[in-house]
Amino acid sequence: DDEYIGFATLPEQVHRKAVRKGFDFTLMVVGESGLGKSTLINSLFLSELYKDRELPSVNDLIQRTVSIEKKQLEIEEKGVRLKLTIVDTPGFNDTVNADDCHKALLEYVEQQFKQYFEDESGLNRRNIVDNRVHCCLYFISPYGHGLRQIDVETMKKLHHKVNIVPLLAKADILTKQELKAMKDRIMQEIEDNKIHVYEFPDCDSDEDEDFKQQDRELKASIPFAVVGCNTVVEAGGKKIRGRAYPWGIVEVDNPDHCDFVRLRQMLISTHMQDLKDVTSDVHYENYRATHIRTQMS
Ligand code: GDP
Ligand code: MG
Repeated sequence: DDEYIGFATLPEQVHRKAVRKGFDFTLMVVGESGLGKSTLINSLFLSELYKDRELPSVNDLIQRTVSIEKKQLEIEEKGVRLKLTIVDTPGFNDTVNADDCHKALLEYVEQQFKQYFEDESGLNRRNIVDNRVHCCLYFISPYGHGLRQIDVETMKKLHHKVNIVPLLAKADILTKQELKAMKDRIMQEIEDNKIHVYEFPDCDSDEDEDFKQQDRELKASIPFAVVGCNTVVEAGGKKIRGRAYPWGIVEVDNPDHCDFVRLRQMLISTHMQDLKDVTSDVHYENYRATHIRTQMS
C-alpha cells in the first residue's frame, strides 16, 4: 500500500537485526562464600548443557571458587541466539578481606566499561561485543537476621555501577513464615540504608490481565528466595531437580517451593532487555561522564 511511508516496520527491523546479531548478556554473582552461588549458576543454566547426559557428580561441577571466573555459553531458541556470560566470584569470608573483595569486584565491572568505551571510540564500533555486567545477583544469607554490615557495604560499592537483584539464598532452610519475615526485613533494610537495587519497570497499562498479574507476583517476590541443586531425584516415577531431605523433597522448579523459576524467567524472557538498557543508559553513562571528565582534567 503506497500510502505508507514504511516506518511502521521499524520495530521489526530493529528486532530482526538484534536477532541476527544475537544478544550478549552478562550476569555476575556476589555474596558471602558458601551461600550457593556456584550451585545456583549451575542450576540456572549450566546443567541444561548436561540434560541429555548423565549429570556429573556435584563435586565435578562445583569446586570452591577461588578467583573471579568467567563462563560462557550460547543458547539458541527459535532462531534467537543468546550469548550468556556468567561471572562467578569467590565471595567474602573470614579469610578473604572485604576490601580486597570489593576491589576485585569493582575492577572487574569497571574494566568492562573501559573496554566498551575504548571499542566505542575505535574503528570497529559496529561490532562491539558487549561484556558489561548487566545484572548482579546478590546473595543474602538465610542464617542471619537480615542484611549484614558487609552486605550493606558491598551493595553500596556496586549499586551505581550495576543492576543489583537481591536473592535470599538457601531458602530451603527457612519455614514459610520465616521466609516472609526475612524478605520483609531485607527490603526494609535496603530502603533504610538507601541501597539502590534494580527497579523493576512498571508494566504497560495495555498489557493483558495475565501479564499484569505475573508482573505483580514477580515484584512481590523480591528478594527472590532461591534453592540451588544439581542432583536429580526420583519422586513418584518422575525425575525432578531437588534437595531430598528425610522428610521430603524441596523442588527447585516448583514455584510453590521457591522463586527459582520466577528468577530465571525474569532474567531470560521478561527483563533481559531492560537490564541491558539500564546498564547502558544509566550505569555506563555514569562511567562515561566521569571518565571523560577525568580525561580532560
Ligand atoms: P558459593 O561459595 O556461594 O559458590 O557456594 P557453593 O555453590 O559452593 O555451595 C556451598 C554449599 O552449599 C555446597 O555444599 C552446596 O551443596 C550447598 N548449597 C548450595 N545451594 C544450596 C541451597 O539452595 N540450599 C542448601 N541447603 N544448600 C545449598
Ligand atoms: Mg562459588
